[in-house]
Amino acid sequence: MAALRRLSEAVVNRIAAGEVVERPASAVKELVENSLDAGASRIEVTVRDGGQSLITVTDDGCGMTADDLTLAVERHATSKLADDDLSRILTFGFRGEALPSIAAVARLTIASCTRAADHGWSLSLEAGVAGPPTPAAIPPGTRVEVRDLFFATPARLKFLKSPPTELGHVRAVVERLAMAQPAVGFSLSDGKRSLLALPAEAGGGEAARLARLARVLGDEFAANTIAIAAEREGCRLSGHAGLPTLNRRTAAEQYLFVNGRPVRDRLLQGALRAAYQDVLAADRHPVAVLFLDLPADAVDVNVHPMKTEVRFRDAALVRGLLVSALRHGLAAAGHRASTTVAAAALAAARPEGGALAAAGGAGAGAARLPLSWPRPATSGASFRQLADAAVAYQAPLAPDAATAAPAADLPPLGLARAQLHGTFILSQTADGIVIVDQHAAHERLMHERFKAQIEGGGVASQALLIPEIVGLSEAAAALMASRAAELRGLGLVIERFGADAVVVREVPAILGETDLQGLIRDLAEDLAALGEGVSLRERLSAVCATMACHGSVRAGRALSVEEMNALLRQMEATPLSGQCSHGRPTYVELKRADIERLFGRR
Ligand code: ADP
Ligand code: MG
Repeated sequence: MAALRRLSEAVVNRIAAGEVVERPASAVKELVENSLDAGASRIEVTVRDGGQSLITVTDDGCGMTADDLTLAVERHATSKLADDDLSRILTFGFRGEALPSIAAVARLTIASCTRAADHGWSLSLEAGVAGPPTPAAIPPGTRVEVRDLFFATPARLKFLKSPPTELGHVRAVVERLAMAQPAVGFSLSDGKRSLLALPAEAGGGEAARLARLARVLGDEFAANTIAIAAEREGCRLSGHAGLPTLNRRTAAEQYLFVNGRPVRDRLLQGALRAAYQDVLAADRHPVAVLFLDLPADAVDVNVHPMKTEVRFRDAALVRGLLVSALRHGLAAAGHRASTTVAAAALAAARPEGGALAAAGGAGAGAARLPLSWPRPATSGASFRQLADAAVAYQAPLAPDAATAAPAADLPPLGLARAQLHGTFILSQTADGIVIVDQHAAHERLMHERFKAQIEGGGVASQALLIPEIVGLSEAAAALMASRAAELRGLGLVIERFGADAVVVREVPAILGETDLQGLIRDLAEDLAALGEGVSLRERLSAVCATMACHGSVRAGRALSVEEMNALLRQMEATPLSGQCSHGRPTYVELKRADIERLFGRR
């Protein structure tokens, strides 16, 4: 081994830079955070070549004096830990590492001017070595210029992705910070074009925040989310969570801010999953932007040099708060389904490239839908459904109550006018029409009724006159038998019947007449997926969903006007009835104005 020695300041900084500055976006993050800490009201970011050749961040914050400048680029120099107290950090920065780290791997120039000074100062560093501050003409505020990032660390340079990819990361960083700071104006450009322009949102409060979120995430977000607000033991949760029908393939659009700081925390994803488990398929992810504000000493932000991870003093409290607030918000949203559903339907119906033009090439319209819902699992019942649907059925036209009643008196989901294809209920609302998928809607109602019965002490069961024998694989039969006691609690009484079958003696009363063979096979699959050691109670939702699916009105069944209206009224009264247990919508609402637009009347 070579002799033990102290590393030079330059090498130490370069090592720290490895943790703090992973890519251009991390430099941008540190610099923008510094601007926010400096109280800026406008922050302009420019990047060239994805940030590799040039990054500038200009703010109108408090600025620095010549002495500040010299100290700011020294390691562990910070103005943000006034009393050395790491337990109450209220600023983004506190480690005093960002500027020296960036300076160690790039060419850095900082120009700054305080409000009190009559001129500013500029300081340049190359590979960590500072020149003297020189007078500079600059308005109050600070401008940081980073050139040739990683020129001093060629290994890191090799890991950079293409400029557009790096630019994407920079953009994401700026957007993320901007979401929590609606009162600050942000802009991002590549030196030629403006890539992002977020004016400061006036007014403050919830309205300003939602306006900023809409600018960053799109109007679709603002129109399809539920406001979340809850408080528990000094922790305050606010923000917006998407309706279940506004779902995504990945969790990328789930944002959590802890005391204004964007953090990545698995806790959020887990809480969202728990809150949405009844209304979203397992492979779909809700959209959410949540702000958690808690006493500074209830959270440790000093976990990682990049400060994107935190530790909560009481993680269970935070998780409980998230899950209950989200559930509450979802239940309060009632039958609302997202407008994206209607937008998708309209996009498909529009003559250009929509269903009409695609009459020859089916599916062209569907391909343009912004959302895709997982297709329902086809069960053994589907053949029978097809057979049922094949029986021609002429829907009775509902009496013209809907047009007779004053529009304002119509209930939200309107009055049923017809059943189409034995599958859809068409209803007229005060200012449009609603098309309900009767199976999906009924399944949702069953699911909620199941849950209510279980929570109320037990599911009423009904004995079968003739017990039904269901053939299964030996493994599946054994599995079902091993869960018999738990299934009994859900109103389903089964026993093993020989090696490869079970006999069903009682079924939940609310299921009504149902395809038991299909139900038992699907349940066996659910149980297999569940694995040992997980109790049915923990996964009630999946089991309820399967039972509800089998107990509900199949597509293809004729409904009377009274039955249809009863279904609509129940939907209005049932929480979460805007989507089925898989996150597919149960109904689509088209406004009269939209329909008129389809026909070129507007
Ligand atoms: P930290 O933010 O952790 O304090 P930095 O290395 O990022 O560490 O910055 C060092 C110091 O430089 C800050 O504490 C602050 O006093 C000063 N500083 C950095 N950027 C700015 C800015 N944009 N405006 C005013 N002061 C700044
Ligand atoms: Mg900093």
